[in-house]
Amino acid sequence: MKKFKAESKKLLDLVVNSIYTNREIFLRELISNASDAIDKRKFMSLTDSSLDADFCIELKADKAARTLTVIDNGVGMTDKELEDNLGVIAASGTEAFKKARGEDGGKSDEELIGQFGVGFYASFMVARRVEVISRKAGADKAFMWSSDGESGFEISGAERAEAGTSVKLYLKDDGDEDYSQYLEPHTLSALVKKYSDYIRYPVKTEMPKTEGGNTTYETKTLNSMTPVWKKLKSELGEDELDKFYMQTYHDYRAPLFTVSTRVEGAVDYTAILFVPQEPSYDYYTKDYKRGLSLYCNGVLIMDKCAELVPEYLGFVRGVVDTPDLALNISRETLQHDRRLRTIAAGLEKKLLAELEKLQKSDREKYDKIFGAFAKAIKFGAYENFGANKDKLKDLLMYYSDAQKKLVTFKEYAEKLDKEEPVLYACGETADKIGMLPQLEGARERGKDVLYFVDPVDEFVARMLESYDGHKFENIASAADDKSAETTEVQKAVLERMEKQLGGKAIVRATDKLKSYPVCLAAKGEVSLEMERLMDAMGGGVKAERILQVNPTHPVISGLETADESRFADTVTVLYNEALIAEGYKTEPEFLSALNRLIAASGK
Ligand code: ADP
Repeated sequence: MKKFKAESKKLLDLVVNSIYTNREIFLRELISNASDAIDKRKFMSLTDSSLDADFCIELKADKAARTLTVIDNGVGMTDKELEDNLGVIAASGTEAFKKARGEDGGKSDEELIGQFGVGFYASFMVARRVEVISRKAGADKAFMWSSDGESGFEISGAERAEAGTSVKLYLKDDGDEDYSQYLEPHTLSALVKKYSDYIRYPVKTEMPKTEGGNTTYETKTLNSMTPVWKKLKSELGEDELDKFYMQTYHDYRAPLFTVSTRVEGAVDYTAILFVPQEPSYDYYTKDYKRGLSLYCNGVLIMDKCAELVPEYLGFVRGVVDTPDLALNISRETLQHDRRLRTIAAGLEKKLLAELEKLQKSDREKYDKIFGAFAKAIKFGAYENFGANKDKLKDLLMYYSDAQKKLVTFKEYAEKLDKEEPVLYACGETADKIGMLPQLEGARERGKDVLYFVDPVDEFVARMLESYDGHKFENIASAADDKSAETTEVQKAVLERMEKQLGGKAIVRATDKLKSYPVCLAAKGEVSLEMERLMDAMGGGVKAERILQVNPTHPVISGLETADESRFADTVTVLYNEALIAEGYKTEPEFLSALNRLIAASGK
């Protein structure tokens, strides 16, 4: 007996013991595996006709033995593949499952199972023993994998007339649940309709037929099989695309947005694109594989064809069917295929156009999409030296200080005079930005400010340079700060402050501030946010810091008469106040300086 890998074992316990509802999804998982296996064999048969067969999936219930067997004539598995594929659950999948389970209390386990490649293990929710007999296409030997789902599995020689796989479930005894129902043809039929209707191969079973008191059995196909994209719009039910999406991608939530398109031109194709409710759990990892399923007249050629979607739209799922590609085209050739690039460009254009339309027609929905995928879209505008920036700039949205909602650059710029800049402020969160000292001045001057909360935002602005003739300007940049008028006395105070700071920052008067005495700004190309981002990446590019001072503020005018030590402490406190407002850590000397000032003021 071979033991399950420790992680697999844990997951197995989880699957078997913690899921008390919705056990019925085991059938969906097994049928989906069978369908994938047939896809693989069908693809191989394109170049090796000896592998061709009358493809189908069969459900066989044996009431006397209490077994249900799912039989396919797909690609099959060797003994080694049985061990590798069914003995282990990829560690990454297991980890992700546990993580998502811990993090997302909203999702139930059964909703998560399908998404983490633990499909086959669902068998043990209903079976006390599972036997998988498989014969690899082209091989002459068959093998059996068997397990009670407890500690391990065994592999032995077996007999199977043809290539394919049979998964035999020895159902548990009824008790906590009615497992016998999975032996009833009508239950099986209902489950296939519910979960596996779009499987492209016939799922068959023996259905009873009663006529004049006599019951006979006949083989019936339970699923409708027609791929949704082959149906005409008029034949498509209201939520049929949603259902297709949910079944295909094991997502328990309907997609946020669906675009279907049929193009006849240089290349003919039909495509359905889905924007999910949120990025998949591994979207921001290197394990994530983007791509659309590519079909040639209903036959799957490639499962995740990355060339069909640009990287920044990697979260989009969907299918493309074209009659124009040769079925037996190799993956390598496919990647350089001109027709594929034509389709990809067409789809990108279509999706972006539909998103822009949605932005106008259903803002609430668009906000949701943007909320879920803003990072990806922004990154798209920035990457490749801004190659896509013009395509994407109107899809971007930022929180507006004046309008208190997300607005596009266009909406913001409409309110500007000619040559007036697009003002923005950076910070970790909208709340923190909202409290920046510099904002007060902007508000008083009646200027709207956009909030940049993603580190990439400022880079995108740099890439764009301007929007519709309006340059981007960080309100925390001292670039064209028209310095406030200062009296001789004020000037002397500021000079003394700068000397006191000892090179940490230069000091300039500003009229941007109102109730705050100081704020921190940067001069030149590198902003404070960029400095921070570079620091996080181990960079070391330094921003040129300016302590902007409101010379009329009582704290500042109070300095005119301050003695040496109060002056030093006040400058320390002010500089640290400016650091805090910008989200920096304070200096070690800050608290003692503050305490001395408080103590002195109490005297
Ligand atoms: P997933 O299907 O998400 O990869 P499973 O645990 O359901 O995870 O299956 C693990 C692997 O076992 C599959 O990726 C496939 O290689 C193999 N497998 C499962 N069922 C079959 C089958 N009926 N025919 C051939 N291979 C199969």
